Amino acid sequence: MDETRIAVFGAAGRMGRTIIRIVSEADGAVLVSALESASSLSLGEDAGSHAGLKRAGVTIGSDIASALSRADAVIDFSAPTASAMLSEAAAKAGCAHVIGTTGFTADHEDRIAKSATETAIVKSGNMSLGVNLLAGLVEQAARALPANLFDIEVLEMHHKHKVDAPSGTALLLGEAAAKGREIELAGNSVRVRDGQTGPRETGTIGFATLRGGSVVGEHSVIFAGEGERIELSHQAGDREIFARGAVAAAIWTKGRAPGLYSMRDVLGLAS
Ligand code: NAP
Repeated sequence: MDETRIAVFGAAGRMGRTIIRIVSEADGAVLVSALESASSLSLGEDAGSHAGLKRAGVTIGSDIASALSRADAVIDFSAPTASAMLSEAAAKAGCAHVIGTTGFTADHEDRIAKSATETAIVKSGNMSLGVNLLAGLVEQAARALPANLFDIEVLEMHHKHKVDAPSGTALLLGEAAAKGREIELAGNSVRVRDGQTGPRETGTIGFATLRGGSVVGEHSVIFAGEGERIELSHQAGDREIFARGAVAAAIWTKGRAPGLYSMRDVLGLAS
């Protein structure tokens, strides 16, 4: 089988280094370029050495057009504005784009959707098999449990370095619940509560965010009824689960038509 040629964007970050390690172990994928911002202190370093591995023979650089011209797919766990810009460069280069970054604005989402008319883009707030399965279970539970009898709350905890809230995964789970209830998440979510909030509005989907320490990612979706409560939960023990999903997604894009795909498409869980 032809190997999928992979570029890693945000190569010096926590996820970028994990991706480089997983690509080095993967069958069917090979690292061809590693990118960082033009001001990064890691520019010029070997991507393998920087990830704590043996030398990969790939130097961390910032020339996006040249890096994408060598790659079939670019894996990107960086920052929202950088990812929206990269989607446009990937569309121009005919390179697939796997986006793990979270915290997008509506404008970023529009730019990425436009790029997806020209290249295959896989975008997911969580790349793990477990969370994508959980999203399917949440959708099913939300469909089965009526809004007037069960309130839905999404609770998440992450490490203290995380800069966006609620997490991309919390929003992905909220979207799954909203889909099950056949409502729009945007107009029916309560993202923060503070002070005199009044009673809970029936049918809304609430979010609560905890931050601290080195927690990789914990999520619970709570269905709270009168006298009973159902909780569906996922705990991530290691960043590798996201990296393995992202590399699988990059391999999956090979020969794929332009479009905006989710991890549920990659994992064959889409309904
Ligand atoms: P991180 O350690 O801060 O890494 C982000 C990297 O991207 C940094 O090396 C940063 O470089 C680089 N970067 C930023 N802007 C760039 C640009 N314009 N060009 C090139 N590189 C750029 O963060 P992380 O923990 O790896 O997380 C990254 C993102 O992935 C976050 O949005 C996080 O929420 C998300 N995430 C998603 C999943 C999932 O499964 N979808 C899982 C884990 C994390 P500088 O430091 O030089 O700016």
